[in-house]
Amino acid sequence: MRYHSTRGASAPVPAVQALLSGAAKDGGLFVPESLPSRQAIGPLGPGYGDVAVRMLAAFFPEVVTEQVAAQLQAAYARFDAAGVTPLVPVGGSFVLELFHGPTAAFKDLALQALPLLLARARELASPDLRYAVLTATSGDTGSAAMEGFRDIPGFSVLVYYPMKGISPMQQAQMTRMPGDNLKAVGIRGNFDDAQAAVKDAFQQQEALLPPGMALTSANSINIGRLVPQMVYYITACRELTQKHGVQPGQDIDFIVPTGNFGDILAGYLVKRLGWPIGRLVCASNENRVLTDFLATGRYDKNRALRTSLSPAMDILVSSNLERLLYYAFLEDTHKVQALMADLARDGHYQVSGPALSHIQEHFQGASATDGDTLTAIRQVFGEYRYLMDPHTATAWLAQEALGPSRNPRVVLATASPFKFPKTVLAAINKPVPKDPAQLLPSLEAAAGQPVPRALAAVLTRPVRHRDLVDREDILQDITWRLAAW
Ligand SMILES: *Cc1c(COP(=O)(O)O)cnc(C)c1O
Repeated sequence: MRYHSTRGASAPVPAVQALLSGAAKDGGLFVPESLPSRQAIGPLGPGYGDVAVRMLAAFFPEVVTEQVAAQLQAAYARFDAAGVTPLVPVGGSFVLELFHGPTAAFKDLALQALPLLLARARELASPDLRYAVLTATSGDTGSAAMEGFRDIPGFSVLVYYPMKGISPMQQAQMTRMPGDNLKAVGIRGNFDDAQAAVKDAFQQQEALLPPGMALTSANSINIGRLVPQMVYYITACRELTQKHGVQPGQDIDFIVPTGNFGDILAGYLVKRLGWPIGRLVCASNENRVLTDFLATGRYDKNRALRTSLSPAMDILVSSNLERLLYYAFLEDTHKVQALMADLARDGHYQVSGPALSHIQEHFQGASATDGDTLTAIRQVFGEYRYLMDPHTATAWLAQEALGPSRNPRVVLATASPFKFPKTVLAAINKPVPKDPAQLLPSLEAAAGQPVPRALAAVLTRPVRHRDLVDREDILQDITWRLAAW
């Protein structure tokens, strides 16, 4: 199994190298030279961990040793829910809860696995190098990466998060995270600023790294993040036929709260492998670049980024869309490279013809305002006693885009409502306490469900990371921190 760049200008590399380098040298993203067949993947065992091990072994055969397989099983066994990702019937649809990991967001499903894969890849390829896991976060990746890489030998994590937009709970999860190999830095800017600086650092890494150190990425540009995310689409399809009377082979629609396009792309890959996935609905907030793109084929980032109630989706440049373009253009890397050059130069590009038809056959978009999001949280709680976080609520609303489709519907729930207690309390018309320490208990009482274990202790930990930088200074900040490590 080898991997090459979506832009085609760098040589194919083995899985180990694709995992360790994160992105390709030509600025593109790694994709497998060919996807494994269902037959090559083989029969899937009954548990979530069994499916994860099979899928990861199919994509990264040399990395998933018996020891790594056991570590993966143990990591998923620590999730706080039976079956890891429970499928909950809500008002005629199903909500797939992806937030029962150690940081209460769906990022845990990949970031509990990725460090295990990278640690093994490092042993195989470069045991003498120390790796800096350089990460831009829109809120949830940072804490999930810190949690996943804590105390993994040979790896240190450096996270940049925007001061604007993320929730106080998300910020506290990072700034209060214990672990000697972890660092979180706030930036006076937004997620795109953080992501752009991190991409620059990757491009200039030869000049910027001290000897003995290498860079790797925990963002969803890393192919090692995408494959673990394929697992829950597969287990959800299986559970629907086994427990909810869905006929085998019946198409199932998935509605996905989308930011960097990694989560939904994993669903598309599962569909390409032959699972019965119908439409993939890409839910956005008012930052509706993807909604417009899916409707018209014109991707245009030339607009102001708005901070919204669903901060993990406040993104103008969705990196993983590049992988969809690669498949939509029938793996024509020249075409992808040309479009990415347009994006870099003009801030927009246009897709048309068969490629656009392909994209529109599988995907559709929908965007929700903050007002709609609050209303959806209130209505769904009122009618079904089911509490959604603001990201999940955008996906709940995006079901409307499906019109009268009779396929079963799965709405991906990407974060616990307890990560956004202020927003959720306000949405369900409950008083929002001034004292931050009272937010979780208030929501617990209002919702009639306990605070997730993952969040209960966060505010009692001491603050460990207070540093802030201006967005112009991120690259310099990265340089000196790496030199100091
Ligand atoms: C990261 C995140 C998303 C967006 O996922 P992408 O893979 O970036 O599209 C949605 N919701 C939550 C809560 C997230 O943390």
